[in-house]
This record gives sequence, structure tokens and C-alpha cells, in this order.
Amino acid sequence: MQLSFKRIDLKLRHTFRITRSAEDVAPVVITTIEHDGITGHGEASPSSRYGETIDTVLDFLRGVDLRNFSDPFELEDIIAYVDSLASGNAAAKSAVDIALHDWIGKKLGQPLYKLWGLSKSKTPLTSFTIGIDSPEIITQKISEAEEYPILKIKLGTDSDKEIMNTVRKGTDKPIRVDANEGWKTKEIALERIKWLEQEGVEFIEQPMPANDLSGCAWVRERVNLPLIADENCIRLHDVPKLHEAFDGINIKLMKCGGLREAMQMIHVAKSLDMKIMLGCMIESSVAITAAAHLSPLVDYADLDGNLLITNDPFAGVKVMEGKLLLGDAPGLGVTPKD
Ligand code: MG
Repeated sequence: MQLSFKRIDLKLRHTFRITRSAEDVAPVVITTIEHDGITGHGEASPSSRYGETIDTVLDFLRGVDLRNFSDPFELEDIIAYVDSLASGNAAAKSAVDIALHDWIGKKLGQPLYKLWGLSKSKTPLTSFTIGIDSPEIITQKISEAEEYPILKIKLGTDSDKEIMNTVRKGTDKPIRVDANEGWKTKEIALERIKWLEQEGVEFIEQPMPANDLSGCAWVRERVNLPLIADENCIRLHDVPKLHEAFDGINIKLMKCGGLREAMQMIHVAKSLDMKIMLGCMIESSVAITAAAHLSPLVDYADLDGNLLITNDPFAGVKVMEGKLLLGDAPGLGVTPKD
């Protein structure tokens, strides 16, 4: 088995601004695993919030040696080996996991959702994300997002009310709010959520800093909107302890290390009667399509990373009026554009 990888700089249509950062270019790493004449593709989109950069991904992947494994069907052992190389590095690990899954699907001649017994008719609608911006740009982004029936708005700043007022002048669509840990005290979070309960909001993602779980539990007891854990929910072992403070979790391949663990997180969350959302970083159609194959199992999708870029190197899952449309091609069903 041959693992190779290369960096690609994804260019954003608009500067992507959330409460802690802003970016115009998102560097990612595309992986390929070749074996037996079949090529599987994967992707890593590192996030500094979780301690990864493009250089840590490249360093990690240089240390992955798959020569001791006979083929990608040894998935469980390969993933355990990759996970054991170092802690963290979830995006880099995900790039290996996704490529292995793509290879297996291609080898068996079936799309991943079919191998998992899922129906592509059950994919959810994806939201379309509007980052933090000036009123003029937010208004422009809302009109550009006309075909998407659900919007996700980034808040968690001093100008939350101004942003929401601008949004509500432009649209009456259902809105999901992501505060990205921006409300620093439980009193601020409570005040903002109580106000958002009147604004046609479906749920609130990560209202408070991840290190204040008890604050979040305090808020949850006092509000009516569901609270979804994102920065608090990284890997499988995080899920049970979030049950008291949140109503649901946001799973991202780039946080948990790939499809294998994401599937486990989905089932643990279901067992706890928690809502499940599938999210993403700024990613190409490789990683977005990988997550889309799991999406028939979840309540909410926020798989729009590839819709925010102008130079997607792959074609994969499509979106029509917000609905994620998977094809019938084997594996991920992604094809390089050149
Ligand atoms: Mg989030």
C-alpha cells in the first residue's frame, strides 16, 4: 500500500470570519492510497483551534508507514496504528481514514452509504454558513445564498444584534446560530439565547467556551433552544460527558479522525438520545462527500465547506436547494476535476 499526499490551497469566495479568526485561503492536504490498481482519496483540513497546521499534517503523514499491512481491508488495525503514532492530529488521521474507505468502496464496487446500509434519499438539508462581516457583505451573502433553505449565522461578538438585524432584514429562513465559544460568561450566553428565541432560530452551537461545561449546563436549564456542542465535542470519549450540558453534538471528521470514529460517535450519541449534526471545516469535495455518506444517520448537516471555495479540485456530492445529493459511483464517488 502506497500513501502519497500533496498540499492544495483552497481559495475562499469571501474572507471567512468567525469570532476567533479570519481566512482567505485554506490550505488542505489531499491524500491518495494506491493498492492493487485502485486509488482511494482522502483529505486533511487542519484547524489551529485543535493544534494542527498544514505543516503538522505533512509531518504526521510522512511518519505513516503502511508497508506492514496487506490491504485496506485491515481498516481497524490500520486506523489503530495511525491513531497510536501521536495524540491529536485528527485531520491528518482523517486523511488516511477517508482514503482507506474510498479504496474499500471502489474495490467492492459500491458507494459507502450502501456498504453502511443507508439510503441516499435520507440525506438531510445542509445549512449554508454566513461568516461575521459588515452589514453590506452580510446582505450580499444572504442574496448569494438564495437557493439554500437554512442559513447558519456566526455570532459571538459585540455586534450580534446588529448582525441578526441585518440578517432578518434580508431573509425569514430558519437560522442556526454558531457562537464559536464567543459568549464568555453564562449570564451573557443566557441573555443572547433568550433574545434569539424570538428570532426564528433552530438551535445554538457552542454558546460558551469549551472549558466551561458547568456554565453551559446552567444555561441549558434556563433556555428553550437546543444547544449543540462543537468545540466541546472532539472525539468519541467526549460524547457521554456532554449529555448533561448539551442537547446534541456536532461531529466533524477533522476533529475525530475520520469516518470510522464518526460512525461510532453517531451511535453513542443516539444511545444517549442526543441530536446529531455533521459539520466541516473549509474542505474540498473529498472530505465533504465523505461526511455526506454518513449524513442519512444524522439530524442536521452543515456540509458547506466546498460551497465556500472557488477552486475545488474534486467533484463529488452535489447540493440542490440545500439537499445533499449522493451518486451511485463506488467509494466516495469523487473525481479529480483535471
Ligand atoms: Mg461550530
